[in-house]
Amino acid sequence: MGARERMRERYDVVVVGARAAGAATSMLLARRGLRVLAVDRGEYGSDTLSTHALMRAGVLQLVRWGLLGRIEREGTPPVNRTVFHYDDGAVDVPIKPRDGVPALFAPRRTVLDRVLVDAAVEAGAEVRHRVRLADLLRGAGGRVEGVLLQEADGEMSAVRADFVVGADGLRSTVAALVDAPVTWRARHAAAAVYGYWSGLDVDGYHWYWGPGAAAGAIPTNGGQVLLFASVSERECRETMHADIPRAYRRILADVAPELAERLPEAQLAGNLKGFPGHAGFMKRAWGPGWALVGDAAYFKDPITAHGISDALRDAELLASAFVEGGEGALAEYEATRDELSTRFAEVTDRIASFEWDTAELKILHKALSEEMKREVAAIVDRPAPRPVLAHTA
Ligand SMILES: Cc1cc2nc3c(=O)[nH]c(=O)nc-3n(C[C@H](O)[C@H](O)[C@H](O)COP(=O)(O)OP(=O)(O)OC[C@H]3O[C@@H](n4cnc5c(N)ncnc54)[C@H](O)[C@@H]3O)c2cc1C
Repeated sequence: MGARERMRERYDVVVVGARAAGAATSMLLARRGLRVLAVDRGEYGSDTLSTHALMRAGVLQLVRWGLLGRIEREGTPPVNRTVFHYDDGAVDVPIKPRDGVPALFAPRRTVLDRVLVDAAVEAGAEVRHRVRLADLLRGAGGRVEGVLLQEADGEMSAVRADFVVGADGLRSTVAALVDAPVTWRARHAAAAVYGYWSGLDVDGYHWYWGPGAAAGAIPTNGGQVLLFASVSERECRETMHADIPRAYRRILADVAPELAERLPEAQLAGNLKGFPGHAGFMKRAWGPGWALVGDAAYFKDPITAHGISDALRDAELLASAFVEGGEGALAEYEATRDELSTRFAEVTDRIASFEWDTAELKILHKALSEEMKREVAAIVDRPAPRPVLAHTA
């Protein structure tokens, strides 16, 4: 049967976007026997604009789904410590093995998203890249009943589904088409520039904080280390924009001098990547025939490096809600997300303001740590989704 013919069939769920949130949701639904089509306008295995430090909750999700072994076999180095460098000294936090999480990991998106897509396909989901959502199909009373898709060659096809999931990121088309109301909005945004370095030996995650700027080192695949520099959106517009590579090195030299002085012996692999900043939000996460997950539903500033972990967490919450069925389960999905995320999002917003001093920043980091512990405890409390197929271990 050809792809076009298959696409005329009806699916239980069509998922738009096949990365952290979408591929994970598709995999979990397919493992529960639902007929799932996931589409993504991007290429299979491609990179995206994102640093990719996973926190304990994110690694825990991969463990629950039987996928951490694959991430490790791709050569993703374990991260056994997180060091916070403040202007009055460093705080070194060991990452203790707990809840089946042996260490933290920061897989490249070319690795993580591919592993999730492969697992979705193995579970029986149909995943199609270079296919774009053009519009939603509506039934009586405006309920979403499917999608209008555009193939790479421009051909359009209509696909019917009981539910459409928008896992299509920060600028979600699904969220825009259903006009999902914003339920929380951040006030600040940070800009970030990052690059991958070879020949730089870094042990653990390192976060550096100084007046009005931050930097970080994240060891990843291929023996490379991601180094980022971050300032407020306004500071970026006013002082960084004119010469980004120069500003990147200046921020590293100011905030992370111990890293900056090692750069002459290291090599920058490829170009620097820049994110101009975008204020965080939470959106209504479901409605008649639709749901949102990942950045499409909830975006917080990348300064606290938690978006992928949240996308994986919410993929499992949403998949469980679909399996349970009914509006009550979807309402519970959104309520749980809000309960686990609102305080984290507020603290993140305060950090993204860059209007703190070191004493306040330490209090904010302590609050984040408490929220992350609460989140992990909530995940551990929920039974892991079944069945986990033998071949995913
Ligand atoms: C600079 C930066 C640094 C970050 N650093 C970290 C970090 O260190 N740790 C962390 O956990 N998080 C980090 N994040 C956040 C993280 O990138 C996101 O939270 C994560 O990518 C969300 O995953 P997602 O699947 O929801 O969306 P995305 O990864 O954005 O995937 C959405 C997908 O939808 C597809 N799509 C969009 N529109 C359509 C359409 N109309 N039709 C078909 N497909 C469509 C896109 O092609 C894309 O593949 C960072 C983000 C940024 C910008």
